[in-house]
Amino acid sequence: MKVADRWFASESVGDGITRIWEPHVARLFQCNIWHVRGRDSDLLVDAGMGISSLHEAIAELVDKPVIAIATHTHMDHAGSLHEFPQRLVHPIEASQLQHPDEFPVLCSNHWPGNMRALIEEQGYDVPDVLIDAYPYEGFDPEAFRTPACTATQVVVEGQMIDLGDRVFEVLHLPGHSPGSIGLWEKDSGTLFSGDAVYDGPLLDTLPDADITAYIRTMQRLQSLPVNVVHAGHDPSFGRQRLLELVRAYLAYRS
Ligand SMILES: [Zn+2]
Ligand SMILES: [Zn+2]
Repeated sequence: MKVADRWFASESVGDGITRIWEPHVARLFQCNIWHVRGRDSDLLVDAGMGISSLHEAIAELVDKPVIAIATHTHMDHAGSLHEFPQRLVHPIEASQLQHPDEFPVLCSNHWPGNMRALIEEQGYDVPDVLIDAYPYEGFDPEAFRTPACTATQVVVEGQMIDLGDRVFEVLHLPGHSPGSIGLWEKDSGTLFSGDAVYDGPLLDTLPDADITAYIRTMQRLQSLPVNVVHAGHDPSFGRQRLLELVRAYLAYRS
């Protein structure tokens, strides 16, 4: 396997927001990492796999304290959280952050139980090894584990994250995982949705997923006056597409 020139890619999406992703990670685990520029603090929504230093990769983008928040603690969202001094998560998933999966997360043939089959059943192609390049010479995918860390703050429904000139409200959006959260900027109608909703096959049968809770989350998203959804995976979309995704899910599951 070749060594990647750069591990992360990034693009500005306007409104002070940059999308960062890991192009050498299999699509299913290619999480969108969002950087939001604020006046007093920056916000980082999710932190990728933790295979290579995210902190170093975004150093040029950042000139103030960063509030790093995991929308949930799946391996593709919380991997580099440990690199940031301010680490926020919903309390239900704080212990998962401290005790991440002990199996080789990059090697799907070593995953426990039927995890791989559950994901494949929902329409994804899961390769044996989840990367197509190494971050550096000598990297061993079998030895890689999601780095553990402790949250410095837990955040619950209704809590405000204030960047000085923009404010995000924490929405508890369980279903995909019990402590899944979204970040909602009412002034702009911007939602960072994590894996609660994205424009691809949704995963609601993983261990800890809850279809009943997911249905309630979808009903709630339906009534949110969004302009744009920046999701945990796949391209961003507007309210019309959100409503289509919500209706499709509700028709399928309720
Ligand atoms: Zn997830
Ligand atoms: Zn994800």
